[in-house]
Amino acid sequence: MHFDVIVIGAGAAGMMCAAQAGGRGRRVLLIDHVEKIGERIRISGGGRCNFTNRNVSAENFLSQNPHFCHSALARYSPHDFISLVERYGIPYQQREHGQLFCDNSAHDIIAMLKTECDKGGVQWMFPCSVQSIEHIASHGSLRFAVTTSNGTFRCQSLVIASGGLAVPKLGATSFGYQIAEQFGLRVVPPKPALVPLALAPETLAVLKSLSGIAFDAVTHCDSAQFRENVLITHRGLSGPAILQISSYWQMQHYHKISNGKKPSVAIDLLPDTNAAAWLENHRSSKTLLPNLLSEFLPRRFAHEWCALQNAEKPLNEISRRDLDAIAHALKAWVLMPSGTLGYAKAEVTLGGVDTHQLSSKTMEVKATPGLYFIGEVVDVTGWLGGYNFQWAWSSGWAAGQFT
Ligand SMILES: Cc1cc2nc3c(=O)[nH]c(=O)nc-3n(C[C@H](O)[C@H](O)[C@H](O)COP(=O)(O)OP(=O)(O)OC[C@H]3O[C@@H](n4cnc5c(N)ncnc54)[C@H](O)[C@@H]3O)c2cc1C
Repeated sequence: MHFDVIVIGAGAAGMMCAAQAGGRGRRVLLIDHVEKIGERIRISGGGRCNFTNRNVSAENFLSQNPHFCHSALARYSPHDFISLVERYGIPYQQREHGQLFCDNSAHDIIAMLKTECDKGGVQWMFPCSVQSIEHIASHGSLRFAVTTSNGTFRCQSLVIASGGLAVPKLGATSFGYQIAEQFGLRVVPPKPALVPLALAPETLAVLKSLSGIAFDAVTHCDSAQFRENVLITHRGLSGPAILQISSYWQMQHYHKISNGKKPSVAIDLLPDTNAAAWLENHRSSKTLLPNLLSEFLPRRFAHEWCALQNAEKPLNEISRRDLDAIAHALKAWVLMPSGTLGYAKAEVTLGGVDTHQLSSKTMEVKATPGLYFIGEVVDVTGWLGGYNFQWAWSSGWAAGQFT
């Protein structure tokens, strides 16, 4: 009933940490409350797990403490994880933007992590629910008592790797945040991120008939921008450019609501074109603006977008002032999303355990020796494209060297 290390949460970060600690000869118990572990890895990347990205830096992550992730990412980099994948002979491929996916299936990654844990002699316990955690600072080298549905276990190091809140049906819980609060840690309020955005009813009324239409655009929010597809859905906007910018839009909520500004997203509909010059060239055209815009945008979208702008006229009938406004809106179509589609459709959670209270080298809570937080439960959120798994591997590895 005594372990050197107990890891709670057998996801990406938890398995990496347990394998590392086990590999150092530590007696490790890995607990999860679900019946089947690795489900989030299994469904990731459309079943092929976008397990990392060739180009990873702190700039690809959002956090209230933007430099925190740097150390762990540098010490266990994409290169290290790729080497592990290659040692196991797992075939993989590189797609656009440096994203790496399994050729066959995400099962290859799960099997690799399980084997790594087995090599380190990690003991598994699932399904097993944790009922309470007690700090027993005065009990020799043992510092924590973990009471579970399978009994009480004591340990020297306790690692919380219980992930965020995205996709509750895969076993996501607020467990990690509760434990953080129990130990007096601040939690940056969690929000769904990498998530489709819901549109205000008046915009949705016009656009929802276009559900399924996608176009290339640049989304902007504060200083962040992403050029990818935008997809119109029956509830709002999705597609990679929207998922990426959604995290920054959520981030704006932390900063803007207090000073009264409503968070917004802007979309450049003509990323390769100087809209003002292009409109000027067609200034005397008798063609309807939506028909002209169909040169760049899906025809039906061009028509509905012009309807939203009240600009369905021939170009030569549009006033100079209106033309300037249209040029501006084409380059920065400003939307005030009414919300997101929530955790059910989110890929990750923004926010989490405030990193100012953790060591960036070890992930240990500065004020509570022996207690560690790793992976998505921590306030470090990656872009779409393999960054979130890389954070799980890097933070799990970092803690695994010290637990
Ligand atoms: C649909 C989808 C696709 C994704 N695709 C990608 C991708 O291709 N590339 C990428 O980089 N990222 C992807 N992500 C994000 C990535 O899956 C997560 O960032 C990553 O899994 C986080 O790792 P983690 O170990 O911190 O948490 P998780 O992998 O979520 O693991 C947490 C574990 O803790 C367990 N747990 C929770 N509560 C308790 C409790 N109370 N008691 C015991 N155990 C508990 C859970 O059951 C789970 O096994 C995707 C996410 C989703 C939802």
